Amino acid sequence: MPSHVDYALARRAVLNDLRRGVVKSLDVCDAHPELMRAARNVGTPMEAPCPVCSKDSLRLVSYVYGDGLKDANGRCLTKRGELEGLARKHDEFARYVVEVCHECRWNHLKRRELHGKLHRVRRVS
Ligand SMILES: [Zn+2]
Repeated sequence: MPSHVDYALARRAVLNDLRRGVVKSLDVCDAHPELMRAARNVGTPMEAPCPVCSKDSLRLVSYVYGDGLKDANGRCLTKRGELEGLARKHDEFARYVVEVCHECRWNHLKRRELHGKLHRVRRVS
């Protein structure tokens, strides 16, 4: 399994469908209130404008999942260095990076990455 999976192709497909009217913006701009809150409060600003509403309101929000994470399983990363701290302590877990627009609620899974002690060497190379 590759340690990083990028969902750029899926994103392009969804945006094409939106432009062609195959899907409605209501179908793709449906960020959960929790996700919206995370985007506003702890999201990392993206340089690109929102692909749906064109505003500069895109944020990246990260969540971590892994059986070994115990109480951190499913946690939204809020602090600098939090990911590195978890990676030093645990063998393997996944980080899901979601792009969210806090204006129109567009959201899309951008990347899935594997982190932890098992992936340290590969990440450097
Ligand atoms: Zn937007």
